[in-house]
Amino acid sequence: MKTQIISVDGNNIDKDVMRRAGEIIKKGGLVAFPTETVYGLGGDALKEESSGKIYRAKGRPSDNPLIVHICRMEDLPYLVEEVPDTARRLADAFWPGPLTMILRKSDKVPRTTTGGLDTVAVRMPMHRAALAFIEAAGGYVAAPSANISGKPSPTLARYVAEDMDGRIDMILDGGEIGIGLESTIVDLTGEVPVILRPGYITKEMLEGVLGKTEVDKALSDSSPAQPPRAPGMKYRHYAPKGELTIISGRQEQVVEEINRRAREKRQQGEKVGVIGTEDSVEYYIADSVKCAGTRKDENTIAKALYRILREFDDEGVTVIYSESFGEPEGSGIGQAIMNRLFKAAGHHIEYV
Ligand code: AMP
Ligand code: MG
Repeated sequence: MKTQIISVDGNNIDKDVMRRAGEIIKKGGLVAFPTETVYGLGGDALKEESSGKIYRAKGRPSDNPLIVHICRMEDLPYLVEEVPDTARRLADAFWPGPLTMILRKSDKVPRTTTGGLDTVAVRMPMHRAALAFIEAAGGYVAAPSANISGKPSPTLARYVAEDMDGRIDMILDGGEIGIGLESTIVDLTGEVPVILRPGYITKEMLEGVLGKTEVDKALSDSSPAQPPRAPGMKYRHYAPKGELTIISGRQEQVVEEINRRAREKRQQGEKVGVIGTEDSVEYYIADSVKCAGTRKDENTIAKALYRILREFDDEGVTVIYSESFGEPEGSGIGQAIMNRLFKAAGHHIEYV
Protein backbone atom coordinates (compact mmCIF):
# COMPACT_ATOMS: atom_id res chain seq x y z
CA MET A 1 0.00 0.00 0.00
CA LYS A 2 1.27 3.49 -0.86
CA THR A 3 0.83 5.93 2.04
CA GLN A 4 0.09 9.53 1.01
CA ILE A 5 1.46 12.23 3.33
CA ILE A 6 -0.38 15.56 3.13
CA SER A 7 0.28 18.74 5.14
CA VAL A 8 -2.68 20.26 6.98
CA ASP A 9 -3.06 23.50 8.88
CA GLY A 10 -5.63 23.70 11.68
CA ASN A 11 -6.01 27.44 11.09
CA ASN A 12 -6.57 27.09 7.38
CA ILE A 13 -8.51 23.91 6.66
CA ASP A 14 -8.27 22.61 3.10
CA LYS A 15 -11.77 21.20 2.59
CA ASP A 16 -10.73 19.14 -0.41
CA VAL A 17 -7.99 17.35 1.54
CA MET A 18 -10.42 16.66 4.40
CA ARG A 19 -13.02 15.34 1.98
CA ARG A 20 -10.47 12.92 0.52
CA ALA A 21 -9.31 11.81 3.98
CA GLY A 22 -12.95 11.37 5.08
CA GLU A 23 -13.71 9.26 1.98
CA ILE A 24 -10.88 6.89 2.87
CA ILE A 25 -12.42 6.30 6.33
CA LYS A 26 -15.91 5.86 4.89
CA LYS A 27 -14.53 3.22 2.50
CA GLY A 28 -12.97 1.32 5.43
CA GLY A 29 -9.39 2.64 5.13
CA LEU A 30 -7.03 4.17 7.70
CA VAL A 31 -5.80 7.77 8.07
CA ALA A 32 -3.37 9.11 10.70
CA PHE A 33 -4.20 12.62 11.90
CA PRO A 34 -2.92 15.22 14.37
CA THR A 35 -4.71 15.86 17.65
CA GLU A 36 -3.60 18.13 20.50
CA THR A 37 -2.27 15.13 22.50
CA VAL A 38 -0.43 12.83 20.01
CA TYR A 39 -1.03 11.64 16.42
CA GLY A 40 -4.00 9.25 16.11
CA LEU A 41 -4.50 6.32 13.74
CA GLY A 42 -8.11 6.68 12.57
CA GLY A 43 -10.63 4.23 11.17
CA ASP A 44 -14.44 4.08 11.11
CA ALA A 45 -15.47 3.40 14.73
CA LEU A 46 -18.75 1.79 13.65
CA LYS A 47 -17.19 -0.73 11.23
CA GLU A 48 -15.82 -3.97 12.65
CA GLU A 49 -13.36 -4.40 9.78
CA SER A 50 -11.88 -0.95 10.37
CA SER A 51 -10.97 -1.61 13.99
CA GLY A 52 -9.52 -4.96 12.88
CA LYS A 53 -7.31 -3.09 10.41
CA ILE A 54 -6.18 -0.65 13.12
CA TYR A 55 -5.13 -3.49 15.44
CA ARG A 56 -3.20 -5.12 12.59
CA ALA A 57 -1.46 -1.94 11.44
CA LYS A 58 -0.26 -1.25 15.00
CA GLY A 59 0.44 -4.85 15.98
CA ARG A 60 -1.86 -4.06 18.91
CA PRO A 61 -3.43 -6.83 21.02
CA SER A 62 -7.14 -6.86 20.16
CA ASP A 63 -8.21 -6.82 23.83
CA ASN A 64 -6.90 -3.25 24.06
CA PRO A 65 -9.87 -1.00 23.19
CA LEU A 66 -9.80 2.08 20.96
CA ILE A 67 -10.94 5.61 21.77
CA VAL A 68 -13.85 6.85 19.63
CA HIS A 69 -13.32 10.47 18.53
CA ILE A 70 -16.31 12.72 17.87
CA CYS A 71 -16.59 16.33 16.71
CA ARG A 72 -20.03 17.38 18.10
CA MET A 73 -21.66 16.84 21.48
CA GLU A 74 -24.92 15.87 19.65
CA ASP A 75 -23.17 12.74 18.40
CA LEU A 76 -22.42 11.36 21.85
CA PRO A 77 -25.86 9.79 22.64
CA TYR A 78 -25.60 7.54 19.56
CA LEU A 79 -22.54 5.81 21.07
CA VAL A 80 -23.74 5.27 24.63
CA GLU A 81 -26.60 3.76 26.64
CA GLU A 82 -27.12 7.09 28.35
CA VAL A 83 -25.22 10.32 28.87
CA PRO A 84 -24.85 10.72 32.62
CA ASP A 85 -24.92 14.16 34.18
CA THR A 86 -21.23 13.77 35.11
CA ALA A 87 -20.36 13.37 31.42
CA ARG A 88 -22.33 16.49 30.46
CA ARG A 89 -20.58 18.55 33.09
CA LEU A 90 -17.13 17.29 32.08
CA ALA A 91 -17.88 17.91 28.42
CA ASP A 92 -18.96 21.48 29.24
CA ALA A 93 -15.73 22.05 31.11
CA PHE A 94 -13.14 20.20 29.01
CA TRP A 95 -14.45 19.32 25.52
CA PRO A 96 -13.15 19.80 22.99
CA GLY A 97 -9.95 18.79 24.78
CA PRO A 98 -7.58 16.12 26.08
CA LEU A 99 -10.12 14.17 28.14
CA THR A 100 -11.50 10.68 27.36
CA MET A 101 -14.63 9.44 29.13
CA ILE A 102 -15.54 5.78 29.64
CA LEU A 103 -19.32 5.23 29.35
CA ARG A 104 -21.65 2.26 28.81
CA LYS A 105 -21.77 1.57 25.08
CA SER A 106 -24.84 1.43 22.84
CA ASP A 107 -25.38 -1.49 20.46
CA LYS A 108 -24.19 0.74 17.59
CA VAL A 109 -20.56 0.34 18.67
CA PRO A 110 -19.00 -2.96 17.60
CA ARG A 111 -17.15 -4.96 20.23
CA THR A 112 -14.01 -5.01 18.10
CA THR A 113 -13.78 -1.24 18.73
CA THR A 114 -14.15 -1.69 22.50
CA GLY A 115 -11.86 -4.72 22.83
CA GLY A 116 -14.84 -6.88 23.82
CA LEU A 117 -15.98 -4.54 26.63
CA ASP A 118 -19.52 -3.23 27.33
CA THR A 119 -18.08 0.25 27.75
CA VAL A 120 -16.77 2.71 25.19
CA ALA A 121 -14.08 5.39 25.47
CA VAL A 122 -15.10 8.72 23.86
CA ARG A 123 -13.20 11.94 23.30
CA MET A 124 -13.74 15.19 21.40
CA PRO A 125 -10.29 16.49 20.46
CA MET A 126 -9.50 20.20 20.28
CA HIS A 127 -7.17 20.26 17.25
CA ARG A 128 -9.09 21.98 14.42
CA ALA A 129 -7.72 19.67 11.74
CA ALA A 130 -8.84 16.68 13.83
CA LEU A 131 -12.37 18.09 14.18
CA ALA A 132 -12.64 18.81 10.44
CA PHE A 133 -11.33 15.34 9.60
CA ILE A 134 -13.76 13.57 11.99
CA GLU A 135 -16.66 15.50 10.50
CA ALA A 136 -15.61 14.60 6.95
CA ALA A 137 -15.24 10.95 8.01
CA GLY A 138 -18.86 10.71 9.17
CA GLY A 139 -18.49 11.72 12.80
CA TYR A 140 -17.14 8.60 14.56
CA VAL A 141 -13.43 7.88 14.24
CA ALA A 142 -11.79 5.15 16.33
CA ALA A 143 -8.20 6.09 16.93
CA PRO A 144 -5.40 4.84 19.13
CA SER A 145 -2.02 6.55 18.99
CA ALA A 146 -0.42 6.18 15.55
CA ASN A 147 2.64 4.17 16.63
CA ILE A 148 3.58 0.50 16.39
CA SER A 149 2.40 -1.05 19.64
CA GLY A 150 5.01 -0.67 22.39
CA LYS A 151 6.82 2.33 20.86
CA PRO A 152 6.50 5.91 22.12
CA SER A 153 3.41 7.70 20.77
CA PRO A 154 4.26 9.95 17.80
CA THR A 155 4.36 13.72 18.31
CA LEU A 156 5.62 14.41 14.75
CA ALA A 157 4.30 13.07 11.42
CA ARG A 158 7.83 11.88 10.66
CA TYR A 159 7.47 9.29 13.44
CA VAL A 160 4.03 8.24 12.21
CA ALA A 161 5.59 7.61 8.79
CA GLU A 162 8.48 5.68 10.36
CA ASP A 163 5.99 3.25 11.96
CA MET A 164 3.08 3.29 9.49
CA ASP A 165 4.46 3.88 5.99
CA GLY A 166 3.00 1.22 3.69
CA ARG A 167 0.46 0.09 6.32
CA ILE A 168 -2.13 2.88 6.08
CA ASP A 169 -3.69 4.99 3.33
CA MET A 170 -2.87 8.54 4.40
CA ILE A 171 -1.04 10.65 6.99
CA LEU A 172 -2.27 14.19 7.68
CA ASP A 173 0.84 16.08 8.76
CA GLY A 174 -0.09 18.87 11.19
CA GLY A 175 3.45 19.56 12.44
CA GLU A 176 4.58 19.12 16.03
CA ILE A 177 1.88 18.25 18.56
CA GLY A 178 1.13 20.73 21.37
CA ILE A 179 0.67 18.56 24.48
CA GLY A 180 2.72 15.48 23.66
CA LEU A 181 1.15 12.99 26.10
CA GLU A 182 -2.05 10.97 25.61
CA SER A 183 -5.42 12.14 26.97
CA THR A 184 -6.56 11.73 30.56
CA ILE A 185 -8.99 8.77 30.79
CA VAL A 186 -11.80 8.93 33.36
CA ASP A 187 -14.26 6.09 33.97
CA LEU A 188 -17.77 7.40 34.65
CA THR A 189 -19.55 4.02 34.85
CA GLY A 190 -19.28 3.57 38.64
CA GLU A 191 -20.42 5.48 41.75
CA VAL A 192 -17.23 7.52 41.93
CA PRO A 193 -15.32 8.70 38.82
CA VAL A 194 -11.96 6.95 38.48
CA ILE A 195 -8.90 8.16 36.54
CA LEU A 196 -7.56 5.24 34.52
CA ARG A 197 -4.76 7.18 32.85
CA PRO A 198 -3.35 10.55 34.00
CA GLY A 199 -2.93 13.33 31.43
CA TYR A 200 -3.12 17.07 30.88
CA ILE A 201 -6.53 17.26 32.62
CA THR A 202 -5.51 16.57 36.21
CA LYS A 203 -7.31 15.02 39.19
CA GLU A 204 -7.67 18.50 40.70
CA MET A 205 -9.32 19.81 37.53
CA LEU A 206 -11.76 16.87 37.45
CA GLU A 207 -12.55 17.28 41.14
CA GLY A 208 -13.29 20.94 40.52
CA VAL A 209 -16.22 19.79 38.35
CA LEU A 210 -17.24 16.44 39.85
CA GLY A 211 -16.14 16.47 43.47
CA LYS A 212 -14.45 13.31 44.74
CA THR A 213 -12.51 11.51 42.01
CA GLU A 214 -10.26 8.49 42.51
CA VAL A 215 -7.16 7.27 40.70
CA ASP A 216 -6.93 3.61 39.60
CA LYS A 217 -4.73 2.09 42.32
CA ALA A 218 -2.90 -0.08 39.82
CA LEU A 219 -1.22 3.06 38.43
CA SER A 220 0.95 3.78 41.46
CA ASP A 221 1.98 0.16 41.96
CA SER A 222 4.68 -1.54 39.85
CA SER A 223 3.22 -5.05 40.34
CA PRO A 224 -0.43 -4.44 41.21
CA ALA A 225 -2.65 -7.20 42.67
CA GLN A 226 -5.42 -6.13 40.26
CA PRO A 227 -4.60 -5.34 36.62
CA PRO A 228 -5.10 -1.70 35.56
CA ARG A 229 -8.70 -0.92 34.56
CA ALA A 230 -7.66 0.58 31.22
CA PRO A 231 -6.49 -2.61 29.48
CA GLY A 232 -3.79 -0.69 27.61
CA MET A 233 -2.06 0.39 30.81
CA LYS A 234 -0.93 -3.16 31.54
CA TYR A 235 1.34 -3.39 28.51
CA ARG A 236 4.94 -2.26 28.56
CA HIS A 237 4.39 0.86 26.58
CA TYR A 238 6.13 4.01 25.57
CA ALA A 239 9.37 2.07 25.49
CA PRO A 240 12.60 3.26 23.86
CA LYS A 241 15.07 0.61 22.62
CA GLY A 242 17.73 1.62 25.16
CA GLU A 243 17.55 0.57 28.81
CA LEU A 244 16.13 3.51 30.73
CA THR A 245 16.75 4.27 34.41
CA ILE A 246 15.30 7.24 36.31
CA ILE A 247 17.63 8.83 38.86
CA SER A 248 15.84 10.91 41.48
CA GLY A 249 17.21 13.23 44.16
CA ARG A 250 18.79 16.68 44.64
CA GLN A 251 20.01 18.10 41.37
CA GLU A 252 23.78 18.17 42.08
CA GLN A 253 23.67 14.59 43.33
CA VAL A 254 21.63 13.43 40.38
CA VAL A 255 24.12 15.01 37.96
CA GLU A 256 27.04 13.41 39.77
CA GLU A 257 25.41 9.97 39.88
CA ILE A 258 24.31 10.03 36.23
CA ASN A 259 27.78 11.15 35.09
CA ARG A 260 29.41 8.39 37.16
CA ARG A 261 27.14 5.73 35.67
CA ALA A 262 27.47 7.16 32.16
CA ARG A 263 31.29 7.00 32.39
CA GLU A 264 31.16 3.40 33.55
CA LYS A 265 28.72 2.31 30.84
CA ARG A 266 30.68 4.07 28.11
CA GLN A 267 33.83 2.26 29.21
CA GLN A 268 31.86 -0.96 28.70
CA GLY A 269 31.10 0.09 25.14
CA GLU A 270 27.51 1.27 25.66
CA LYS A 271 26.16 4.38 23.94
CA VAL A 272 24.70 6.55 26.70
CA GLY A 273 21.90 9.12 26.48
CA VAL A 274 20.82 11.52 29.24
CA ILE A 275 17.56 13.45 29.71
CA GLY A 276 17.95 16.66 31.71
CA THR A 277 16.41 20.13 31.71
CA GLU A 278 17.57 23.67 30.94
CA ASP A 279 18.94 23.92 34.47
CA SER A 280 21.14 20.84 34.22
CA VAL A 281 22.02 19.78 30.65
CA GLU A 282 25.29 21.70 30.52
CA TYR A 283 26.69 19.58 33.38
CA TYR A 284 26.20 16.16 31.79
CA ILE A 285 28.85 14.16 29.94
CA ALA A 286 27.45 11.40 27.72
CA ASP A 287 27.13 10.41 24.05
CA SER A 288 23.82 12.24 23.70
CA VAL A 289 22.44 14.79 26.16
CA LYS A 290 18.86 15.99 25.59
CA CYS A 291 17.09 18.96 27.08
CA ALA A 292 13.47 18.12 27.94
CA GLY A 293 12.53 21.76 28.58
CA THR A 294 12.24 23.64 31.85
CA ARG A 295 10.98 22.66 35.28
CA LYS A 296 9.34 26.09 35.48
CA ASP A 297 6.83 24.88 32.88
CA GLU A 298 6.30 21.11 32.95
CA ASN A 299 4.22 21.33 29.76
CA THR A 300 7.52 21.78 27.90
CA ILE A 301 8.71 18.45 29.32
CA ALA A 302 5.48 16.66 28.37
CA LYS A 303 5.85 17.93 24.82
CA ALA A 304 9.50 16.84 24.47
CA LEU A 305 9.49 13.43 26.16
CA TYR A 306 8.35 11.07 23.37
CA ARG A 307 10.37 12.93 20.75
CA ILE A 308 13.52 12.48 22.85
CA LEU A 309 12.87 8.76 23.37
CA ARG A 310 12.47 8.36 19.60
CA GLU A 311 15.65 10.38 18.91
CA PHE A 312 17.62 8.06 21.19
CA ASP A 313 16.27 5.10 19.18
CA ASP A 314 17.41 6.75 15.93
CA GLU A 315 20.86 7.46 17.39
CA GLY A 316 21.32 3.87 18.56
CA VAL A 317 21.55 4.82 22.24
CA THR A 318 21.69 1.64 24.36
CA VAL A 319 21.55 3.04 27.91
CA ILE A 320 19.46 6.05 29.01
CA TYR A 321 19.43 7.98 32.28
CA SER A 322 16.69 10.47 33.03
CA GLU A 323 16.12 12.93 35.80
CA SER A 324 12.84 12.55 37.65
CA PHE A 325 10.15 15.16 36.92
CA GLY A 326 7.87 15.17 39.93
CA GLU A 327 6.15 12.35 41.73
CA PRO A 328 3.39 10.08 40.41
CA GLU A 329 1.13 11.44 43.14
CA GLY A 330 2.12 15.06 42.47
CA SER A 331 -0.13 17.69 40.91
CA GLY A 332 -0.26 19.14 37.38
CA ILE A 333 0.96 17.35 34.30
CA GLY A 334 4.00 16.12 36.29
CA GLN A 335 1.94 13.12 37.33
CA ALA A 336 1.24 12.16 33.70
CA ILE A 337 4.88 12.70 32.73
CA MET A 338 6.07 10.42 35.53
CA ASN A 339 3.41 7.79 34.72
CA ARG A 340 4.77 7.55 31.14
CA LEU A 341 8.42 7.78 32.17
CA PHE A 342 7.93 5.03 34.80
CA LYS A 343 6.46 2.75 32.15
CA ALA A 344 9.20 3.58 29.66
CA ALA A 345 11.71 2.66 32.40
CA GLY A 346 9.91 -0.56 33.33
CA HIS A 347 9.48 1.09 36.79
CA HIS A 348 13.25 1.29 37.23
CA ILE A 349 13.95 4.30 39.46
CA GLU A 350 16.81 4.90 41.88
CA TYR A 351 17.09 7.51 44.58
CA VAL A 352 20.36 9.29 45.42
P1 AMP B 1 -4.40 4.96 22.96
O1 AMP B 1 -5.50 5.31 22.05
O2 AMP B 1 -3.24 4.28 22.28
O3 AMP B 1 -4.05 6.15 23.76
O4 AMP B 1 -4.99 3.89 23.95
C1 AMP B 1 -6.31 4.00 24.44
C2 AMP B 1 -6.35 3.70 25.89
O5 AMP B 1 -7.71 3.78 26.33
C3 AMP B 1 -5.85 2.30 26.23
O6 AMP B 1 -5.08 2.35 27.42
C4 AMP B 1 -7.15 1.56 26.45
O7 AMP B 1 -6.99 0.44 27.27
C5 AMP B 1 -8.05 2.63 27.07
N1 AMP B 1 -9.48 2.33 26.87
C6 AMP B 1 -10.16 2.44 25.71
N2 AMP B 1 -11.44 2.03 25.87
C7 AMP B 1 -11.57 1.68 27.17
C8 AMP B 1 -12.66 1.18 27.97
N3 AMP B 1 -13.86 0.96 27.44
N4 AMP B 1 -12.42 0.93 29.27
C9 AMP B 1 -11.21 1.16 29.80
N5 AMP B 1 -10.14 1.62 29.10
C10 AMP B 1 -10.31 1.88 27.81
MG1 MG C 1 -1.09 4.33 22.50
